[in-house]
Amino acid sequence: MAKARGFVEFNTEACKGCELCVKACPFDVLDMNHLVNGKGYHFSYMKNYDQCTGCASCAMVCPDVVITVYKVK
Ligand code: SF4
Ligand code: SF4
Repeated sequence: MAKARGFVEFNTEACKGCELCVKACPFDVLDMNHLVNGKGYHFSYMKNYDQCTGCASCAMVCPDVVITVYKVK
């Protein structure tokens, strides 16, 4: 069976920079950007695209519903 792959999209302007998603990802996919959004918060991004499985752990912990998860086969 092919390994499930995932991709996550961020509503960057809604991110508060809490880093919960970075810590929640079991595959070290996410990291905080050194840039800031319009509100002055560092926002998360996909550092390791290849490692995402689409498990959605990041989206579940985000208090501000910033993350949308897509799954591809
Ligand atoms: S969907 Fe899962 S593997 Fe992908 S970034 Fe989120 S927590 Fe990490
Ligand atoms: S959990 Fe949500 S608000 Fe917190 S850093 Fe991640 S995307 Fe931003």
